[in-house]
Amino acid sequence: MAVSDIGRRLPVVADGPTDARAARSGVDESDLGYEHPLYKTMLAVPGLSVATGSLDQLLEWGMRNSLWVFPMATSCCGIELMAAAASRVDLDRMGTIVRATPRQSDVMVIAGTITVKMAPRVKALWDQMPEPKWAIAMGSCAISGDFYRNLYSVVPGIDTIIPVDVYIPGCPPNPEALMHGLLRLQEKIKARRHGKPVAAEPNPTLLDITRPSIGRFVDPSRDPALNEQQITSALEASSLDGSDEPKDGEAEPTIAEYEPVSIPGAQERAPELEAILAELGVTELPKDGAPIVAADRHYELARRLRAAGYRQLVYVVATHFAAKAGKAPSPERFEVAYALRTVGKGSRLAAWRVQLEPGQSVTSLVGVFAGADWQEREQFDLVGVRFDGHPDLRRIMLPETWEGHPLRKDFPADKACPPWR
Ligand code: SF4
Repeated sequence: MAVSDIGRRLPVVADGPTDARAARSGVDESDLGYEHPLYKTMLAVPGLSVATGSLDQLLEWGMRNSLWVFPMATSCCGIELMAAAASRVDLDRMGTIVRATPRQSDVMVIAGTITVKMAPRVKALWDQMPEPKWAIAMGSCAISGDFYRNLYSVVPGIDTIIPVDVYIPGCPPNPEALMHGLLRLQEKIKARRHGKPVAAEPNPTLLDITRPSIGRFVDPSRDPALNEQQITSALEASSLDGSDEPKDGEAEPTIAEYEPVSIPGAQERAPELEAILAELGVTELPKDGAPIVAADRHYELARRLRAAGYRQLVYVVATHFAAKAGKAPSPERFEVAYALRTVGKGSRLAAWRVQLEPGQSVTSLVGVFAGADWQEREQFDLVGVRFDGHPDLRRIMLPETWEGHPLRKDFPADKACPPWR
């Protein structure tokens, strides 16, 4: 213990604890009428205050040099966090080890994007960490949501959920930056323990130069016509006008040299698929895409393809097409694309599409391919397509309380979701 520290601490004890506390905190606690029974006895023991002062110093030194990290690593910044613990940077040398439990951890390092669905879990884990505890926001995503900030599902900064002690800017910050952040945290712990005021760190994204565009569509100084233009171009961008497709007679792009799989449309269609389609009455086989099958026949198609050796459900992908006016008007509709493949050498692919009007549902494939369970739930959650006969058609990515389906073209991209964003 430094001599100067002894000199600083002894008068506090000599003047009486309540006076010193009142002076420090501005609150007079002298009339609260409570004093621990052992307190006066302890003060009367010669040298005890020096001993407890020394012990306090020792504990504070131990505390700041044994910061155990709870890793809340969700994306690429997490890789840098892992690298920090590896041999080159070796965080262990400053007493910092990573524990996969909140119960014994002192510092939560949030390294990566936090989504609205994840946010309550992060908060629950933070609440399970014992005091004293600290939080480090590592990287732009944890600090502000970064590029994903305006996205419906992303929390725009972890400090909207838990108090952050140290911000480490970067995308991603390297392991040395994390180490520097931990050193800054150590200094803060030391200062606080010694009763020195520690100013809260400003969130770097609140600086004017990086002010986010979250309120873009409600900015009163913005010309509303610009918003309209943006919305229109976003809707048009996903329309099926076909202007950028190869015209008749033009060569189709080929990926045959790279891809051993037979691609329907771009290459020859698997013969068994064509035969089954013919039996189901599907005669239109477009060259530039998968055939369209009626919503009430496609279950039969999947069942027969499975019997013909197609054992893997590759994807179930739904798309929303907004109504289109102009020269080539088209009504609002949904399209669900499916693909199956055979497994093993010479693998073949069979793909088809189902078109739906708004409000129309399609038969679930869970009875044929168990894996359809998750994929159909995802499409229901994000696009709002309903799958008849699905045993558990619930949201899978967004919270149950979420309103709307974010991958529909008319969904506002920067929708609020209190209290997380
Ligand atoms: S800040 Fe950059 S590196 Fe870190 S999680 Fe976000 S995108 Fe990945």
